[in-house]
Amino acid sequence: MKKLALHWQILAGIIFAVFIGGLFPQSAKYLSWMGTIFVNGLSMIVVPLVFSSLFCGITNNSKGLGRLGIKTIVYYMSTSLLAILTGLLLVNLIRPGQGLGWMLTKTMEQPNLSPKPLSDTLTDIVPFNIFQALTDNKAMLSIIFVAILAGVFTNTLESNHRNVLINFVQAFFELMMKITLFIMRFAPLGVFGLIVMVVAEHHNFGELLLSLGKYALTVVFGLTTHMFITLPLILLLVGRVNPVKHYKAMLPVLITAFSTSSSSATLPVTMETVEKKAGVSNRISSFMLPLGATINMDGTALYELVVAGFVAQLYGIHLTFGQQFIMVFTALLASIGTAAIPMASLVTMTIIFSAINLPFAAVALVLPLDRPLDMLRTTVNVFSDTCGSVTVASSEGEDIAVKL
Ligand code: ASP
Repeated sequence: MKKLALHWQILAGIIFAVFIGGLFPQSAKYLSWMGTIFVNGLSMIVVPLVFSSLFCGITNNSKGLGRLGIKTIVYYMSTSLLAILTGLLLVNLIRPGQGLGWMLTKTMEQPNLSPKPLSDTLTDIVPFNIFQALTDNKAMLSIIFVAILAGVFTNTLESNHRNVLINFVQAFFELMMKITLFIMRFAPLGVFGLIVMVVAEHHNFGELLLSLGKYALTVVFGLTTHMFITLPLILLLVGRVNPVKHYKAMLPVLITAFSTSSSSATLPVTMETVEKKAGVSNRISSFMLPLGATINMDGTALYELVVAGFVAQLYGIHLTFGQQFIMVFTALLASIGTAAIPMASLVTMTIIFSAINLPFAAVALVLPLDRPLDMLRTTVNVFSDTCGSVTVASSEGEDIAVKL
């Protein structure tokens, strides 16, 4: 018999959990360990995965930091920021999690309601002790800082030392990706354990579902806005590219990203299509696209920000301006550090959660909807990479096929 795809298994886990939790609430305490182990597994992998992913992103792409490099970074950072701001606006307007604070009182670990002041968050970025920071899931900003420092200075080492370090961390990164995929295989059981608990303890499950629906719509609306308004405007105004021609040319890329939920699995198709159909030179595509698959994740950035905003609303936490600023900043870092594989956002979400003191276990609530939203956000992630390469190619005077 053919094995059921992971997202169907997850869906089955959820349906099963709703039944068991609803009919036999007492059973929850014997089943919730599955959820706990799954959340522990995800937390366990955060530090090594983010560290090695960032380090490799920086060291693999050291050669291109000329004019092309600067244009690339400016494009990648600004589109991610625009996506994050779209998410922030929508989550504040729609407020999908409002009014449910009381529902979570029993089930979840409680957040620290007196969040850290902005000044402390900023000064703590430079850790007092590197090794202590690397063992602390809550010190994500310090870990990112150390990874960037290590990556940048590895690039300046003599080649024999540089190669040893790069090869080692690259191998380590591959290992971490394998372990992440392995943990994800247990998502159906993990989701089952987590949802059984939520259902067993809430009589008002319907209200929570409604709220989840509103949350998913917020994400979908944000992704659609970015894909069909923001990015085409950039194509048109900055790249002098015809968006309709570009969508048509990129169709195989969009379908692959949607069905694999992985920017890196899509990369060969992205490179081939951007070169053959859009007519971008190999010089630009071979530099921009692998880098983009690693660090440019507009959809992921938007998604993670909406999740953090939603969870804060569920807990009834009012986020100050300073905290919203931290959310924007950490969502950008988290999207850069996210590995280009399915469901990787669930891991890096901890960066935002720890910066504004939200409990990681609350991720359980958004887990059931993660896979379908992953298909959509990955499509946006990869589409933004393709828009970047045609925009930059056109600004470099290349005669591309999707010109206005
Ligand atoms: N699946 C996404 C990608 O590969 C990453 C994520 O947001 O989970 O682009």
